[in-house]
Amino acid sequence: MSQPLFRTPKGVHDVLPEDQQYMTYIKKAVRHRARQAGYKRIDPPIYENRAIFERGIGEHTDIVEKELFIVSSKQKQAEEVKDTNEFALRPEFTAGICRAYIEHGMQVLPQPVEFYAIGPCFRHDRPQKGRYRQFHQFDLEVIGLKDPSLDAQLIQSLQMIFKDLRIDSRLTLQINNVGSSENRKQFCAALQEYFIGKERHLPELDRARLASNPLRLLDSKEEDTQILLKNAPTLSQFIDAESKDYHATVLEYLTALNISYTENAGLVRGLDYYNQTVFEYWDSSTGAQNAVGGGGRYDGLIELLGGKPTPGLGAACGIERIIWHMKEAGVKAPDKDKIDVFVAQLGPEAKKTCLQLIVELRDIGVHTLGALGEASLKSQMRLADKFQAKYTLLLGKMEVKNGTIILRDMVAGKQKEIKFKDVVPTIKKLLGEKNLDTYSITDKLGNYVDAGE
Ligand code: AMP
Repeated sequence: MSQPLFRTPKGVHDVLPEDQQYMTYIKKAVRHRARQAGYKRIDPPIYENRAIFERGIGEHTDIVEKELFIVSSKQKQAEEVKDTNEFALRPEFTAGICRAYIEHGMQVLPQPVEFYAIGPCFRHDRPQKGRYRQFHQFDLEVIGLKDPSLDAQLIQSLQMIFKDLRIDSRLTLQINNVGSSENRKQFCAALQEYFIGKERHLPELDRARLASNPLRLLDSKEEDTQILLKNAPTLSQFIDAESKDYHATVLEYLTALNISYTENAGLVRGLDYYNQTVFEYWDSSTGAQNAVGGGGRYDGLIELLGGKPTPGLGAACGIERIIWHMKEAGVKAPDKDKIDVFVAQLGPEAKKTCLQLIVELRDIGVHTLGALGEASLKSQMRLADKFQAKYTLLLGKMEVKNGTIILRDMVAGKQKEIKFKDVVPTIKKLLGEKNLDTYSITDKLGNYVDAGE
């Protein structure tokens, strides 16, 4: 095969039909479990004012420092964004959803306001297994009310989704409480103090982190840093009593819900906006690398984005990583793209007649292909076989004249002639009502399904 002229950029992939089956399956589980718990769908735009991400996620985080895709057009956009003139592709959902909550005045709604979102996110990461530049997340957010029961309920919804997708046993829930931003400030100051005179033992990158965002030393992969951290002050020494109580109650509720967890004092997450509860779902066998999801509380974020102080809590999971786990676990997503009927025809009159038949079959929910080209019946049959159609209908000149059609069972390799007027009910019966792909915008009588009261 010759080399194609164009390919997808590095770290970016087509979501091919095979994977769409998994995507649809996952979206269904998410929608179902989210709706059960009162979440409503939101789609923040794919790109927004970059300051939303920079301010929200934090100037000195990997996502903002290195991974933001900046969008700018050739036209001056000065009117829209006065300070920067630039937008960024969303690297995650939380900051955009919080901006939407403020922009649409949602604090007047009954609180908490719960949102779910599903869609692509973009990070200019170094591509590797499970790490892409365009990937998909599903996201849950609970804004406007603070209660440890909400933290536990959010985790419970995730558990249900993982269970529906049959990957729950492959994941472990890691949980921590990172205290208030004041606690973290004090801890960071203590950490900087501790490293005075020791900086030269730190690898260059961590030395820079010590100055800009010392918390990130905690999840440093550098051995030298980890050795030095052994005698350093720990974050848990700085967590206030209120956060400790809050954490204990969250854990109590998780236990009441029969959710097992691992307390992990080293878990800080890479984003600045978290306070108190943070958690991640790790692959039980490989640990922190390629976490499937994570989240936590962000009680300061809405204020940071210009809103009134409003508590918030959320979680996001990577869909590509979930698909990988499903495949590893041998979970098959149902294939809804099969062809039920192939209609083959010979001659212009037959072609015209079968067009109407194809429409009728499709309308009752039969996946139908046909009226393709002018080839012989034999080669159309071969095509039907390649498409793996369950049945083929053959309509030649004779059949049109006699008001009949030939029905061939492709699996059994048997065929019979039936009356043309009986063909739709016959196919319906053969496939079985439950296997028809009907669309629920109308009910069985063809009336539009009303939104209801
Ligand atoms: P984060 O909030 O950064 O922990 O992201 C939440 C989840 O999104 C992660 O646990 C991953 O499953 C997924 N994710 C994040 N970045 C990427 C990426 N570059 N490629 C694929 N999945 C990602």
